[in-house]
Amino acid sequence: MRERIARFMQGRYGIDQFTNFLVFSALIILVIEMFIKVPGIRFLFNVLSVATIFYAYFRMLSRNHNKRFSENEKYMKYRNNVKFFIARERSHMQQRKTHHIYKCPQCRQSIRVPKGKGRIAITCPKCHKEFIKRS
Ligand SMILES: [Zn+2]
Repeated sequence: MRERIARFMQGRYGIDQFTNFLVFSALIILVIEMFIKVPGIRFLFNVLSVATIFYAYFRMLSRNHNKRFSENEKYMKYRNNVKFFIARERSHMQQRKTHHIYKCPQCRQSIRVPKGKGRIAITCPKCHKEFIKRS
């Protein structure tokens, strides 16, 4: 039996981060589904979780490694962007007590200014536009 499975899996793409993400998403959808009372919406969630699982299996058993690999690359890139965004938001939240974050009115560059200095002239480090803010 194990040999047969091994032979069946030969040349198949297998599991990557994107597949893990798909399986995890399907589980989350299933959990949400348990709390939905409206039959129509519940059915939609059911279909969505089954479709996600099927897609995960399809990717695992696929023989088109190049295509699956590039899908995973795209996913990893997206995941890094999300991670970067969360890290930046978190650091802004932490700095909020001591600093203001202003956006340059000209080039949208974020500028960090210490709080409690009254009205100050801020010069954008990127485009050198000057603007007045209360800190
Ligand atoms: Zn600027």
